[in-house]
Amino acid sequence: MAAMNAAESARVGLCAECAWARRVVSSRGSVFWLCERARTDARFRKYPPLPVHACRGFEQAGAGSPGEPPRPQ
Ligand code: SF4
Repeated sequence: MAAMNAAESARVGLCAECAWARRVVSSRGSVFWLCERARTDARFRKYPPLPVHACRGFEQAGAGSPGEPPRPQ
């Protein structure tokens, strides 16, 4: 995951540290946070409203291969 400053981390919330999150930068430089869980689980939104303070799908990033979400159960 790309390095980010404290202000962005606070703006994003849990997604900033989640293995399922992907930071997307548009051609205009806007930053979006995509939830990869939304691909296979309709309970999650592709672009969750930020900041996320609580999420049942959260998994700490860095537990497995960098940049690779854990396998869905
Ligand atoms: S599972 Fe939850 S915390 Fe993780 S990226 Fe999706 S919305 Fe964010």
